[in-house]
Amino acid sequence: MNRNETSRLMSERNIRPKKSKGQNFLTDERVASRHIEFASVSPDDNVLEVGPGLGILTEKLADACRRLTVIEIENTLADHIEETFGDRVHLIRGDALAVPWPEFDRFVSNLPYSISTPIIFRLLDHDFKKAVVMVQKEFAERMAACRGSVDYSRLTVNIYYRADCRILENVPASRFKPRPKVDSAIVEIVPRPPPFTVVSEEMFFKVVDAGFLHRRKKIRSALRTEGITIPENADVPFLDDRMETLSPEDIGKLSDAVYEATR
Ligand code: SAM
Repeated sequence: MNRNETSRLMSERNIRPKKSKGQNFLTDERVASRHIEFASVSPDDNVLEVGPGLGILTEKLADACRRLTVIEIENTLADHIEETFGDRVHLIRGDALAVPWPEFDRFVSNLPYSISTPIIFRLLDHDFKKAVVMVQKEFAERMAACRGSVDYSRLTVNIYYRADCRILENVPASRFKPRPKVDSAIVEIVPRPPPFTVVSEEMFFKVVDAGFLHRRKKIRSALRTEGITIPENADVPFLDDRMETLSPEDIGKLSDAVYEATR
């Protein structure tokens, strides 16, 4: 599906792309083919795609796997997917943040920007083999950031705890219609066991949230602001540091000590 075909489909179906729903359609078949190749889809796989849009990825996925489920919020686009693919895809009409997800082995999507964060967090709660997602470049950099960099964030640590993550390819804004303001990137997420253990995962994620929510504050103060008060004499490391300077492993040590000090 090139730019002309995308324009034709949009006018035939009277589709007026909504910025609020991240409706920037990929118009480069070669990028779409590489996206699918990166996902290494096999005929035994169940695949989930969020936001099929006009179907550029859907077309390549539909016959490559055992079962393809797509979730599309926009009625005109869902109608187009239903009429184009019929029984070849299982279409769920609705909000991918609200509807239940089926079981899947691979997750392949060009994600709408406004819901990239909650979708990635929801994805991480599932059991799957591999995800390959297109996201805004800045978001991709936050996903795969290194400690101490400006991109190092709550998102980075949550992903690092559960998966290997890397940027595979940058995709210029010119490859989409309508053209977004920023470039995109294709990112791979491969789940693996956590690289370190923590006493309480619940406390670990709470500490991560508090520390990055108040990343300019020292950790003691950031935790206090989020309702976690460390007793004065407790033996807890890193309280005078800022969260962005700690490696995920150090955040694990911090959260274990916070858990001991506050239980
Ligand atoms: N996959 C197509 C492509 O690559 O050209 C479209 C990608 S476009 C960036 C994002 C798609 O997600 C749009 O089809 C949009 O309608 C859909 N979408 C936006 N918010 C959604 C939501 N909450 N749940 C499901 N789909 C959503």
